[in-house]
Amino acid sequence: MRQLPALWFVLSVACALCKVQVARLEFAPPGVVPVSWYSWGPEPRAFYEHVRIPGSWWLIVESDAYENGVGENLGTADVDRLRTAFRYPRTYAQVHGADLKGDAGFCPDCDVPYCAQHWRGIGSLGAQCPRGHAR
Ligand SMILES: [Zn+2]
Ligand SMILES: [Zn+2]
Repeated sequence: MRQLPALWFVLSVACALCKVQVARLEFAPPGVVPVSWYSWGPEPRAFYEHVRIPGSWWLIVESDAYENGVGENLGTADVDRLRTAFRYPRTYAQVHGADLKGDAGFCPDCDVPYCAQHWRGIGSLGAQCPRGHAR
């Protein structure tokens, strides 16, 4: 099986203050298993084999606000949309365009991401970034 450098297919977002990972997006092109597949147990592998559409991309999302477990099938247009959104320099407006739940921790006013620890009071009342902006 062809294995490509992980760097090409994994996007990660780190907290601007403590560098903890806020979000990680892993893409696997059609016909290629995700980079993390090698560390999976038999159950996730069986599930993956069952649901993966051969001609489609595969996306795994891990973030403070949203996770999709083993992952999901993804069309090429969505791959482009997500990659464009996380292109450097990253801004809130750009990341927000990806329509990812929680906006990968980005504060609309600071234009940088924060981890769950630094977003105080996450819950039904909303949260505040370390500089006091609400979201
Ligand atoms: Zn942090
Ligand atoms: Zn802020």
